Amino acid sequence: MDKFDLLNSKMRDCSLCPLSRSRTQVVPGIVSVVGDICFIGEAPGREEDLRGEPFVGRSGKLLDKMLREIGLERSQVSILNIVKCRPPENRDPTKDEIAVCSSYWLNPQLDGLHPKIVVTLGRVALNFFLPHARITKVAGIVQDYKEFPILPLFHPAYILRNMNLIETYQEHFGVLNQYLTSPPKGKGQLNLDDFF
Ligand code: SF4
Repeated sequence: MDKFDLLNSKMRDCSLCPLSRSRTQVVPGIVSVVGDICFIGEAPGREEDLRGEPFVGRSGKLLDKMLREIGLERSQVSILNIVKCRPPENRDPTKDEIAVCSSYWLNPQLDGLHPKIVVTLGRVALNFFLPHARITKVAGIVQDYKEFPILPLFHPAYILRNMNLIETYQEHFGVLNQYLTSPPKGKGQLNLDDFF
């Protein structure tokens, strides 16, 4: 059992916040030890809660499609959520839920992964790292952060509700592709052999 399996097995029994009472199961996320990219959303939705996987259903299909357009498969990236259990009626997780869940589970995942870049999906995930940033202002623009750069992207569910933004979304994924192939000096070169 590796360190992520061990973390997941502890996470699956977690009852540190009230979301444990309404979930079907904990959704630990997908950890890829191959790639250096980590996508982070806010919380599991209904399908994720039922299947135990992050970003499945229509949002997940769109994410997979956008990844394929820049030459990546889901298995080559890590996909996590800030909180690991579904909030009732898909409401935003509360500050307390985010604080306890991230300190016990997300932060150790990120410490173990050492991602070269974190891609946040949606407002809640962006504001977890950069509380004052506005998604409409910074989407598609790489942001400096403490341990790793952050690329804020819209949540795929938002794009599905606003399909007029699909070309903008493709451009934003193009920014990720550009970052992977030629990161700015000082950000650390990604090893492309890990991806292809
Ligand atoms: S959301 Fe996080 S802290 Fe709350 S019960 Fe689930 S795993 Fe535990």
